[in-house]
Amino acid sequence: MPRLVMKFGGTSVATVDRIRNVARHVAREVRAGYEVAVVVSAMSGKTNELVAWCKDASALYAQSEYDAVVASGEQVTSGLLAIVLNEMGLKARSWQGWQIPIETSDQHGSARIQNIDGARLDAGFQRGEVAVIAGFQGIHAETGRLTTLGRGGSDTSAVAIAAAIGAERCDIYTDVDGVYTTDPRVVPKARRLERVAFEEMLEMASLGAKVLQVRSVELAMVHRVPTTVRSSFDDPDDARPGTLICDEDDIVEQQIITGIAFSKDEAQITLRRVKDKPGIAAAIFGPLADANINVDMIIQVVSGDGAATDMTFTVPAADYERARAILEAQSGTVECERIEGATDVVKVSAIGIGMRSHAGVAAKAFRALAEKGINIRAITTSEIKFSVLIDAAYTELAVRTLHALYGLDKA
Ligand code: ASP
Ligand code: MG
Repeated sequence: MPRLVMKFGGTSVATVDRIRNVARHVAREVRAGYEVAVVVSAMSGKTNELVAWCKDASALYAQSEYDAVVASGEQVTSGLLAIVLNEMGLKARSWQGWQIPIETSDQHGSARIQNIDGARLDAGFQRGEVAVIAGFQGIHAETGRLTTLGRGGSDTSAVAIAAAIGAERCDIYTDVDGVYTTDPRVVPKARRLERVAFEEMLEMASLGAKVLQVRSVELAMVHRVPTTVRSSFDDPDDARPGTLICDEDDIVEQQIITGIAFSKDEAQITLRRVKDKPGIAAAIFGPLADANINVDMIIQVVSGDGAATDMTFTVPAADYERARAILEAQSGTVECERIEGATDVVKVSAIGIGMRSHAGVAAKAFRALAEKGINIRAITTSEIKFSVLIDAAYTELAVRTLHALYGLDKA
């Protein structure tokens, strides 16, 4: 029998009533002849509450105990959904990560899945059971301790399980009906996409679109798992297919630009008049890398006098203070006149596989932004995307301008 993974996010399982609705979606796919594995998140708000409890218990809690606490949200919903399915007359049982087992690394709080043994799930399918799996959690084999996969990690659980059991598709049910060309709250003319290529979805998720955990898209791409994003709020007996994330060869009408993403989680740091000599970039970025700070856009100005140069780059807003402190502590090796920074910045990106075969796509955007009086602080480009860093106050104007420019507005 073909297999299907169905994943339901926090808002989709927020109450027992919502869980009953989820069960009807599951029943539909069982009737259609699938062996179904369901992956559930915690009830919405639950994980935040559990995280807050850990912080309340101690500012210096052990990450392994944090995992023991926060993994419980998913344990509850997996059991509840199994109960409801049973009540509907369907065979089902709950599975915790360790029972399968889903083996992970030991980075508590952000563990990576290393291996999923599908044998026990296979046996369950043989018995005609729906497998209801707690997302977000796994086990570190050597220590035998519970782990969690990082916030939003049940998307990753779902895709990994789909790959492990050879599922035909992984359906991610959420409170929106698909992936949009940009955030519809910012651009009311945003359109739902029928299809998005894995590569594009990976860029969109990495650059700020919050529909899916980035890691889940990476896994879907590596294992070529066709993945959909669709709404659990649709009538279970008349559910729309949502957006399919698939191989680019399966996309018939490829646009040049597929989507506009933006991220306010950015901060800019500029080192003025850095002494221009070999090794300066290593001296600046080495310590930041050692501190696990992800540096993104980097611009080094060619020095006019050969003596000093300006270096500008971005870091996640959450790491801004830490990054500045690290750089200030390096004053022995990084000689500069002063360090400047800004946190009221936003990175706006345009993504599309069509950029590979079209020249001048980004240049068009620079002109359009200039016409609106928007100043660009930094630019980066790669094969299928470009990003501009601008003042946060212009976020909406910039996103709307680019959305219209590339013909993404709905008619
Ligand atoms: N419950 C976890 C979180 O809120 C995992 C998930 O929902 O994907 O981050
Ligand atoms: Mg989520």
